[in-house]
Amino acid sequence: MDNNKQNPAAASGFKFENPDAAGKIYRRILTGDRPTGPLHLGHYCGSLKNRVALQDKYDTFILIADIQALTTNFDHPELLKQNIFQVALDYLAVGITPEKSTIIIQSMIPEIAELTIFFSMFISINALKHNPTIKTEAKERGYKELNYGFLGYPVSQTADITIFKADLVPVGIDQLPHIELSRKIVRRFNELYGSTLIEPEALLSEFPKLIGLDGNLKMSKSYGNAIFLSDDFDTVKSKIRTALTDKSRIHPSDPGHPDICTIFSYHKTFSNIDLTKNTENDCINGSIGCVQCKNNLFESIKNILIPMNEKRQYYKERASEIWDILLTGTNKAKKIAEETLREVKNDMKINYF
Ligand code: SF4
Repeated sequence: MDNNKQNPAAASGFKFENPDAAGKIYRRILTGDRPTGPLHLGHYCGSLKNRVALQDKYDTFILIADIQALTTNFDHPELLKQNIFQVALDYLAVGITPEKSTIIIQSMIPEIAELTIFFSMFISINALKHNPTIKTEAKERGYKELNYGFLGYPVSQTADITIFKADLVPVGIDQLPHIELSRKIVRRFNELYGSTLIEPEALLSEFPKLIGLDGNLKMSKSYGNAIFLSDDFDTVKSKIRTALTDKSRIHPSDPGHPDICTIFSYHKTFSNIDLTKNTENDCINGSIGCVQCKNNLFESIKNILIPMNEKRQYYKERASEIWDILLTGTNKAKKIAEETLREVKNDMKINYF
C-alpha cells in the first residue's frame, strides 16, 4: 500500500472524513438522479427534502446521471441537455444550494466510465441478473431482454460513489442490495490491489413512497400519475381533481374510507396534523365532500410549492447561472475523480508512462 496517497484526514485518524477550510469534519455523501424529465412530488418526499437537510450536515455531492439516463432512454439523447437543466432547476427550487452541495454532470467526468470498466471485472453476470433492484426495475419497465448498460447499472453506480471518495449514500431500504454490491466490489478491489478505496455505507433514509394520482403504488412520470414540482397551480389543482378517491362515496354525506383514498394519503404527507385529523373524521362521518377535501389538499400543496416557485422564477430568468453552477460543481468533482483514478491505476500497476 502506498501511504503517500492517504489524505490528511485519513492519516490523522479520520479515515472517512473530510475537513473543510475551518477544520470542521464532514463525511461525504453521494446522491443523484437520472435526468429523464421534470422531478415530481414523489421525488420531493422520497429524496429531495431529505437532501436539503443533509447538505447542512454532510459534504454533499449530487450527481446528475445523464449516462445512466441512457440505460433506459438511449433512443433520445438529444433530450438530455434540457432534462439536465430541468433537474438542476428543480434542485435549486427545492432549496439545494451550490454553497452547500456540489452538483455534477456525470458524462463530463469520463473517469467514472473508466473506473466502471475496472470494476466490471469483479462482478458476475448472474450476480447482476439476480440483483433485486435490477429485477424489480426491469419488471416495472416490462423488459424481457436487458441491455448491457442497464444490467451493469449497479457497477457504474459503484464507480460514481467511489470515484468521488464518498463515505455514505442516502438510500431507501429497497436500494440496500445496490449498496451491498458496491461494498463487495470495492472490498474485492482493495484486497486484490492493496487499495484504500472507501467502502461506502448506506445512510438509510426511509420515507413513505408517495402513491400516484391513480392510486398506483408509485408516483412516476412514465405512469402519467405525477404532480411535477414545476406544474403551475391550475395544473396542480386539476390533477388533484382527477385523483382516485373512495369510489363508494356518491354523495358528500356518504360515510367514506380515508384509508383507501389517494387524497387522504396526500393529506397525511402534505397537510398539518389538525387538517389531517379533521379530514379523517369528516370523511368517516360523511360531513365533507370530496370536492372540498381536494380543495383543502390543494391549499396544503400550494403552500409547499410557493417558496419553490419563487426560487424557480429567480433561476429561470438566469439560465446561465445554472450552467455556471453545474460547471463549477463538475470541475471540482473532476479533480477528485482524476486523483482517485490516478491512485487506482498506481495500485493496479497500469500507470505505464
Ligand atoms: S372526503 Fe377526502 S378522504 Fe374522504 S374519500 Fe373524499 S377525498 Fe378521500
